[in-house]
Amino acid sequence: MSETETEAAGGAAEAAAAGEAAAAGGAAAAGAGILAAIGQVRADVARLHAELVRYGLIVWTAGNVSGRVPGAELFVIKPSGVDYDELTPMNMILCDLDGNVVEGSAGSDLKPSSDTAAHAFVYRNMPEVGGVVHTHSTYATAWAARGEPIPCVITGMADEFGGEIPVGPFAIIGDDSIGRGIVATLSGHRSRAVLMRSHGVFTIGRNARDAVKAAVMTEDVARTIHIARQGGEPVPIAPEAIDALFARYQNIYGQPSEGAVH
Ligand SMILES: [Zn+2]
Repeated sequence: MSETETEAAGGAAEAAAAGEAAAAGGAAAAGAGILAAIGQVRADVARLHAELVRYGLIVWTAGNVSGRVPGAELFVIKPSGVDYDELTPMNMILCDLDGNVVEGSAGSDLKPSSDTAAHAFVYRNMPEVGGVVHTHSTYATAWAARGEPIPCVITGMADEFGGEIPVGPFAIIGDDSIGRGIVATLSGHRSRAVLMRSHGVFTIGRNARDAVKAAVMTEDVARTIHIARQGGEPVPIAPEAIDALFARYQNIYGQPSEGAVH
């Protein structure tokens, strides 16, 4: 990037930040902290879409990541139909928790993802959730097409999901019904993933990265257990062992910010 381009990019960022401050109720009310948080979530959400590509979870522009803005009634989601290579922090879209685009904010000239209403419903109804991901990843969606939960028959799945990955209801895109199905299925469930019947995967997490991790792990276990079944019926793991593995992984292994949201 040349100096002029850098300056231009800086200027555009400042103008957009001013728009976001104004939309959020004035610079003083919004506060520098909220603007910084919006900028961070924009950068995270834009970057994390590349992980969906890297792990082979999406084709074309299907699939989306969103992240809640900490300390604000806002979230950031990708625009609809834009090539993954063209996603940048400044064309991510800032929405309120009803799924309305924040007017005057960066990217607000684009349409948000067609799944925005579903993401918004999850954020409104699950305050502990900081990130939501949707994919049609192949093996997991094959389980969804059969309307069959993925059974917990490998220890890595017990660690990550604490049991089976459940199936949610059949729901048509365009209103709250997908969001309602996600919330009804995952509320109080250990799993951070739901297979929406005849559709695909939605995952939740403490933040956008955690939800992306859950989407990657969902496809991984969907594939492994599918392959296992080609040779016979997988051996179940005792429920007590699943409980112990889940507790250990969530409380001891890794960093405290990873793992279950409940
Ligand atoms: Zn979909």
